[in-house]
Amino acid sequence: MTARIRQFLRKRAEDGPCLVVDLDVVRENYLAFAKALPDTKVFYAVKANPAPEVLALLAALGSSFDAASVTEIEMALAAGATADRISFGNTIKKERDVARAYALGVRLYAVDCIAEVEKIARAAPGARVFCRILSDCVGAEWPLSRKCGCEPAMAPDVLEHAHRLGLTACGVSFHVGSQQRNPQAWDRALASVAAVFRECGERGINLVMVNLGGGFPTRYLKNVPTVKTYGSAIFRALRRHFGNRIPETIIEPGRGMIGNAGVIEAEVVLVSKKNENDDVRWVYLDIGKFGGLAETMDESIRYPIRTPRDGDDLAPCVIAGPTCDSADVMYEREPYALPISLEIGDKLLIEGTGAYTATYASVAFNGFPPLKTYHI
Ligand SMILES: *Cc1c(COP(=O)(O)O)cnc(C)c1O
Repeated sequence: MTARIRQFLRKRAEDGPCLVVDLDVVRENYLAFAKALPDTKVFYAVKANPAPEVLALLAALGSSFDAASVTEIEMALAAGATADRISFGNTIKKERDVARAYALGVRLYAVDCIAEVEKIARAAPGARVFCRILSDCVGAEWPLSRKCGCEPAMAPDVLEHAHRLGLTACGVSFHVGSQQRNPQAWDRALASVAAVFRECGERGINLVMVNLGGGFPTRYLKNVPTVKTYGSAIFRALRRHFGNRIPETIIEPGRGMIGNAGVIEAEVVLVSKKNENDDVRWVYLDIGKFGGLAETMDESIRYPIRTPRDGDDLAPCVIAGPTCDSADVMYEREPYALPISLEIGDKLLIEGTGAYTATYASVAFNGFPPLKTYHI
């Protein structure tokens, strides 16, 4: 929560939940990444928060962009990025979209299998490709599945195929899992990357780039290590696995770039019990899983919640959204402690919500509009 956001919310007249993002915090985060990893290029993961104000700020600061679709590529271009600063990082792309990206000037693509390599070779001849490998995601609060990436042992075949088809097989990428709280997680992944580099070298393919992915955490209820700590751990891991021949590196922070820059203001719609004798109350807000808080799925991300009654005695609450969908319950397995004095109409502040919120909001489920956003 920053003074600028507090002041903005004091003056806001409209009804309904909203996300307010302080762009000064995004700027500080970008500079912290640039300082912690001085030899690494930053490719902001656009999906975390694609607001034009955010993209324009980062483009002006010199950031590059990791885009997952043609629309995200167009948004980055509209914000002032040039095509040579954009990576098409999704491993699942229609060949038509690869052709559109190529026409827009994009020359860097992610692949994780032979079929995807063949699409790129046809639709983006001569482009640079990197192969994404799977990571175990141990230590991540929002672990990624096996959906993107191949087993490291398969990567040399994928890259060799790219090389044979006239593409530039440039490197390897991985993602250690989002909200990765362990800075050592990159070490394990880099051991696998180095093995892919060696195997490709033996096949006469000279890889030059490691895409270190995202995973940098934002602070929710628990403290997280600083970006500087991550930078040092990653640098040590690069030294350990590559010695004096450290390759070019890029990072793709999403959550770590913008999570802590945003606050959602929400309102308590109802406080009730299911039985007079229950200890746990149900607190229904005007925002839930369908309004932008999708990352509460499986109670994975626990956001800090501030109330106007902080300091009063606490009692456990189930926290749910306003829709009639029974899945729209955010914290139940592990109830959330909120002040006993909490009342209908109270405004709550849900912190750390700058990433993966606004674009997750449904269009009009139950008639609720998408989350309003302000980037100030
Ligand atoms: C989502 C994503 C990121 C960003 O991840 P964070 O954990 O938010 O930093 C980076 N790279 C790729 C390929 C992604 O899909």
